[in-house]
Formats: sequence, structure tokens, C-alpha cells
Amino acid sequence: MAFEGLAERLQGTIKKITGKGKVSEQDVKEMTREVRLALLEADVNFKVVKDLIKRIKERAVGQEVMESLTPGQQVIKVVKEELTELMGGEQSKIAVADRPPTVIMMAGLQGAGKTTTTGKLANHLRKKHNRSPLLVAADVYRPAAINQLETLGSQLEMPVFSMGTEANPVDIAKQAVERAKEAHHDYVIIDTAGRLHVDDDLMDELQQIKDAVGPQEIFLVVDAMTGQDAVNVAESFNQQLDISGVVLTKLDGDTRGGAALSIKTVTDKPIKFAGMGEKLDQLEPFHPERMASRILG
Ligand code: GDP
Repeated sequence: MAFEGLAERLQGTIKKITGKGKVSEQDVKEMTREVRLALLEADVNFKVVKDLIKRIKERAVGQEVMESLTPGQQVIKVVKEELTELMGGEQSKIAVADRPPTVIMMAGLQGAGKTTTTGKLANHLRKKHNRSPLLVAADVYRPAAINQLETLGSQLEMPVFSMGTEANPVDIAKQAVERAKEAHHDYVIIDTAGRLHVDDDLMDELQQIKDAVGPQEIFLVVDAMTGQDAVNVAESFNQQLDISGVVLTKLDGDTRGGAALSIKTVTDKPIKFAGMGEKLDQLEPFHPERMASRILG
């Protein structure tokens, strides 16, 4: 599971300070040094760590801590609040169109988990929100992607809109939205093409789909296992496409978790969901506060 290393280190540091009846500036200094090292070791972006530590220090030697009855615990509270804020503060909801269908575009590099997440998200919307999504196979370059989505669709007993590999992805997206209107689907989830790297052709195509269907959400799917790369990918997709949120996949794996802690700061876009396994029900809304609690124990 992600964050294990980070959690272990931080919990050790925290134990040392929790019981303290009095916290000196020296204590805070030592603790923030440990927190800083733990975060860097967890692969959190250097600048993100620097800013976070600055804020923790300011608050931890401030009145709210020094004059409280349990200063040690107050320090931990500050760290927890700052970590929560770092990951996006409030849990953020999925947008809804004024008039259905709500269109969600899924974007991401090949192998990030985009097609799987498309299926998981459809499952989530039906199970938790009683919605009826239409899945759309717009990845025409990888023939297996269409089959993969169709397989997911039949597992979920949900319709998949596809026009084969010859059609233009922009047309597919447009026609899918029309189909959704006719068939009264309230969500359209478009699985777009991925590439091995961020490239201009890919971005152009995604931009064209975006212009054609005006999605309420553009979710970028990134693989948490790729660490800082995930953060860089998120940054470039966001610059070019103005994404609305991130889905971080493979958080069940042995990742250090740094991506989860840097993406919000670097892109200013929330992590909306976390992929916790390969199965269709292993997608969870991302709760910054719960995640912070898990890390701090
Ligand atoms: P795409 O190329 O972005 O569409 O990626 P796929 O959806 O085909 O996923 C690539 C691989 O990652 C597949 O083997 C998925 O089962 C796997 N995968 C996707 N999401 C998760 C996740 O949250 N956890 C784990 N462990 N594997 C995942």
C-alpha cells in the first residue's frame, strides 16, 4: 500500500512529540527536519516540501501551539491540517451538467489505467449515485483498447458506444453524446487515446474532442507508481488541456505516494479518485483528510 514508508517515519517522529507538556522551538525544528526528510524520501516534490515545512514551522511555533495545554498534540494537528490542505483540502465532487448528459473525458498516457478507470468510474456512478452512464471507445489507435472497453462494458452490463478503429475520435465523441441524449443516459464517459509520452498530436486530438463536446470534467489518469513522472505528466496535460481533476491509479501498489502529495500543488487541480486495485469496484473517492490521517496514524 502507498505511503507505508512515509507513515512509518512520520509516526515515529510524532510519538516523540505527542506527549510533550512543553514544546520548544528546538523540538519543532527537529520534528520538521524529520518530516522534511520523510516527505522527500516519499518522493514529494522538493518545492512542495519546502513550502509545507515553512508553513508548519510558522504555525507550530505560533500561539495556537505554544500556549495550548497539549502542545505536542497541537503540533501534530498542524501537520495533519497542512498535509490535508496539501492534498486538496475538501473532498471534491463530480460535476453535473445543467442538462444531461454530463460528459466526462478520460485522458492519460498509455498504461496509466485509463480504460480500466473508465469502467470503474461508470460502476461507481451507477452504484453510488444511481446513474446510467454510456461508455465511449474513442481510443482508435490501439484496437485492443476498444475490445478492452467492450469487455468491461459486458462485465458491468453497460452499453459501450464504438465506431471501430476507422472513425475519427472527434466524431465518435460527438455521436456518442447524441446517442446518450436519445437513450437517456445521464453520463457519457469517453475513453480517449493514450500515448507512451506526452506529444503534440495527442494534445491536439484531446483539445478537439474537448472543443467538440464541451465536457464538464476532464479527468487525467496517472499512475502513482511513476512518482515524479506522474507529477510532470499532470503538469503538462493541465497546461495544455486545463484538466478538471486527477485520478491516481495503483495506490494499492508499492508506491512511495509522493505524487499524491505533490499533484494538487503543482497543478492546482484536485485528486478526485484513487485506484486501489485492478477490479472494477476498486476505485475510491479521494479524501485528503482521511489520507492524511492514514499517513499520520
Ligand atoms: P490504459 O492504457 O491507460 O487504458 O491502461 P489500462 O486501463 O489498460 O491499465 C493498464 C494496467 O494497469 C492494467 O493491467 C490494469 O489492470 C492495471 N490497473 C489499472 N488501475 C489499477 C489500479 O488502481 N491498481 C492496480 N494494481 N492496477 C491497475
